[in-house]
Amino acid sequence: MQTETGFDPQTAADDFDIVIIGGGLTGQAAALALSDADYKIAVVSGPPASSDGRTVALMPEAQSLLRDLGLGALLESQGAPLVRLRLIDDSGSLFRPPSTLFHAHELGLEAFAINIENHRLDAGLHEKLASQPHISVISDRFDCTATHSEGRSVTLASGRILTTRLLVAADGRQSQTRNALGIRSEVKPYDQVAITAIFDHSRPHDDCSTEFHTRAGPFTLVPLPDQRSSLVWLTKPAQGQELSALSDAAFSEVCERQAQSILGKMQVTGKRGLIPMARLQVEALSTERAVLVGDAGHAFPPIGAQGLNLGLRDAADLAASLKGHADPGHSLACQDYGQRRKTDIALRSQGVDMLNRSLLSPYLPVDFLRGAGMLALSSIRPLRRFIMEQGIGRPVSQDGSRSQNGLQRFLSRKSS
Ligand SMILES: Cc1cc2nc3c(=O)[nH]c(=O)nc-3n(C[C@H](O)[C@H](O)[C@H](O)COP(=O)(O)OP(=O)(O)OC[C@H]3O[C@@H](n4cnc5c(N)ncnc54)[C@H](O)[C@@H]3O)c2cc1C
Repeated sequence: MQTETGFDPQTAADDFDIVIIGGGLTGQAAALALSDADYKIAVVSGPPASSDGRTVALMPEAQSLLRDLGLGALLESQGAPLVRLRLIDDSGSLFRPPSTLFHAHELGLEAFAINIENHRLDAGLHEKLASQPHISVISDRFDCTATHSEGRSVTLASGRILTTRLLVAADGRQSQTRNALGIRSEVKPYDQVAITAIFDHSRPHDDCSTEFHTRAGPFTLVPLPDQRSSLVWLTKPAQGQELSALSDAAFSEVCERQAQSILGKMQVTGKRGLIPMARLQVEALSTERAVLVGDAGHAFPPIGAQGLNLGLRDAADLAASLKGHADPGHSLACQDYGQRRKTDIALRSQGVDMLNRSLLSPYLPVDFLRGAGMLALSSIRPLRRFIMEQGIGRPVSQDGSRSQNGLQRFLSRKSS
């Protein structure tokens, strides 16, 4: 069949088993996770995003996936371990609880997570992709898609047409691919923006991440290698604009005050970011010969550092769903992926939404509950363990099976 552009899908080099739209962190990780199965893969990618002070805290499961993809050395050399997590209520509530400190050793872990700058992880993934013989990185943008008897055609902004058996939308929160696939989504904007920045500081962070819960949202400092930390500050849009307009010196001073000088003198380095916050939910994660991964299928504020961790689990579960399918776009494989991912995504996004709304709420009963919750967290060990395990993702025991979490163990002890 000859198309209008003169492209013949039977013979052309532009025929792929899998086409991934979006070369962000999830799209690249998905391509690498799928490359073991000898599929011929294309990643369609715009220019890499410039650095804006963003980092990602990667939980043990995400680290393990990235190590399997050959990125272990990068995590060791460019990442910093988060050994302790400290929560401080700075909301001005009448029911102000004491600060809560969690230690990774309570879970038998060396660290809860490894924190790494997005652009460093992006560069590492890019280098790995370039060394894969079955993966082509195409510098272009998605335009539209249509189904055919055995697959899909994908038209790019340049007019180039690719054919594929499976289309993977990894083009982020505002995914054009998801819209073209006709998958409906609901976006709920929050009255919040995230300010991101990286600081040098005069006191060591001692591998401790500190989260100040303010009335406008959390102000969180996360360790980076040496005496450096990244900041994620969720606040009201108007305050976000004001803070963004400050000089580096003035901004550093405001942050040092907000951090109660726990890191000593703070000096911002590099660019800062200002990102509007929203929750995105989709009606389905798969459709005919297509699936959604990463922020294209779920997005929420960065509370509890869940977004990319979830995206990497999408990549791993997609590889598991396609296992044994010579045709990666087979309807059973696509449906299996949707089923596997549904609960994990729903639980994380509801949990983050609830936590965020409880912080923003000015109502006394909610304040009281939050205060009581933090108090309980500082004193009830099984609850602490349960929350920590939920925070780091899917608890997996050493033999690879899902382990009982702290609360389950507590409840089973009580009932026996
Ligand atoms: C402030 C902040 C802090 C965060 N901290 C953490 C954390 O600690 N831990 C964690 O797990 N998560 C964290 N997250 C979430 C995490 O950053 C995101 O979930 C993750 O980066 C999403 O990656 P993605 O590849 O799915 O989407 P994106 O990063 O949005 O990438 C999408 C890609 O698709 C490309 N694209 C878009 N449209 C097209 C098109 N038409 N054609 C071709 N390409 C296209 C874009 O150029 C981009 O490269 C944080 C988020 C924020 C905002």
